Amino acid sequence: MSVLEHPSFDNHEKVLFATDEVTGLKAIIGVHSTASGPACGGCRMWSYPNSEAALTDVLRLSQGMSYKNIMADLPIGGGKSVIMKPEGAFDRQALFEAFGRAVESLNGQYTTAEDVGVSPDDMMAVRRSTEYVVGLPEGKAASGDPSPVTADGVFRGIQVCAERGLGKRDLNGVKVAIQGASGHVGTYLAGHLAKAGADLFITDINQDGLDKLKAEYGATIVGLDEIYDQDVDIFAPCALGAVINKDTIERIKAKIIAGAANNQLATRDMGEEVLKRGKIYAPDYVINAGGIINVMGEIAGDFDPAWVKGKLDGLEATLGEILDLSADQGRPSNLIADELARQRIEEKRAAKLSKVA
Ligand code: NAD
Repeated sequence: MSVLEHPSFDNHEKVLFATDEVTGLKAIIGVHSTASGPACGGCRMWSYPNSEAALTDVLRLSQGMSYKNIMADLPIGGGKSVIMKPEGAFDRQALFEAFGRAVESLNGQYTTAEDVGVSPDDMMAVRRSTEYVVGLPEGKAASGDPSPVTADGVFRGIQVCAERGLGKRDLNGVKVAIQGASGHVGTYLAGHLAKAGADLFITDINQDGLDKLKAEYGATIVGLDEIYDQDVDIFAPCALGAVINKDTIERIKAKIIAGAANNQLATRDMGEEVLKRGKIYAPDYVINAGGIINVMGEIAGDFDPAWVKGKLDGLEATLGEILDLSADQGRPSNLIADELARQRIEEKRAAKLSKVA
């Protein structure tokens, strides 16, 4: 398995392979960039088929965090970690304590948090080995569940898209399809949209959550696959990645695609396909940055809701700038966002080096 030659390596500053024979830990920590500050990004535990799949995942996720953090103008760099879930029974607490020792060995260059397959309690176990962990359920600056803030950012981002795609920010009577509506972000987003007078079309694997949204907001429940065919103005993917692909793009009628899910485009060139069809796409790592903005309050050690609100205003401005550049240049919004992110990281890196010199 090559690392430096890996197609997703993208000049990672550090990649740490951490193992612990006693607990069965097999983890990889990717530190993509510390140009803006120490790297921060969640830890994912997953049953990877092999270490190559785990490496690919961590490299992509870690680069994505660099882009997300810089576009949200946060003083943190991008990193991420993955733990290869051990087969069979294992001591979860001991595993996460061992993972914490690996994080500690980076001396603060990387701060971890929860991601898929990892809970706040796991992070409490990590905390026993290192202070470089956030997303804790308790403590002085604990920021709690980031989902409401993520949903707030997505709602604001949808308004920014509506201004450009529908000619109005007001969502009264606008039809929105939410994929993953019973999830943490989806549920809060449905609340914001319903309050703004939008008509909701919702789907999820979790039927109970859907029934509640139907009762509360009069939302229309549709099938898992039918969500793509809805005659709506806005499609909000809030469940899985890769849902904008060559099959679904032919079916999506919505003018706007804007939701919380990470990695919505199956491939980078889907951005071009979206643009060709006259649709507006809100780059995922820009519109869903509310969660990391919330976590940043905890990293700073002094959680301030006014600061979080200011950053969400910035999210709206950045998204608007990207969509305007996309319209002016006739180029896909995802490519514009990637270019801006890389440019900003380079500027930070150059500024850091000039301070050292
Ligand atoms: P979640 O697990 O609470 O919600 C996801 C929902 O999607 C669940 O209700 C699940 O049942 C549903 N789902 C799964 N497969 C589905 C399918 N095939 N069709 C329809 N629904 C399906 O997760 P979340 O925290 O709400 O996050 C949602 C998305 O947003 C994820 O992609 C996540 O990575 C991303 N995200 C979340 C945050 C956050 O603050 N929670 C921040 C940034 C990005």
